[in-house]
Amino acid sequence: MADGHLNKCSECCKRDVKKHREENLEYYKNYDRKRNSLPHRIEARNIYQKTIQGKNAGRKAKIKWKMNNLDRRAAHVIFENAIKKGQIIKKPCEICGSVYRIHGHHDDYTKPLEVKWLCSKHHKEVHKNVKRQTRGSDSIPAV
Ligand SMILES: [Zn+2]
Ligand SMILES: [Zn+2]
Repeated sequence: MADGHLNKCSECCKRDVKKHREENLEYYKNYDRKRNSLPHRIEARNIYQKTIQGKNAGRKAKIKWKMNNLDRRAAHVIFENAIKKGQIIKKPCEICGSVYRIHGHHDDYTKPLEVKWLCSKHHKEVHKNVKRQTRGSDSIPAV
């Protein structure tokens, strides 16, 4: 207006802004939700995970997993070779005495020749318990 004031009083202006915001809140919420599932947003997240920051977050767990996995594989190779060479003789299941489908279970991968002899049923049970004990951490259960 000529005197420098808007042609609405300031209270009316505030009310209009508030009303407008409320009307649009749902719209913006939906907009955000939709936007987060758009391909370029997903891509942005993937790119973030490749950045130093994103990498550092997953690096520790990955290294731990890799070390665990290498230990496990190395232990199995040594163990299987020892069986082939007859250096280790399979024994009955330590829990039920079954001689069928016997597995060598490693409690400690740094001792590849020290295994518990378990039938497949009890081997599974041991692993269930290992999983329960390590739940919530990123450690890999023994095989
Ligand atoms: Zn058994
Ligand atoms: Zn095992």
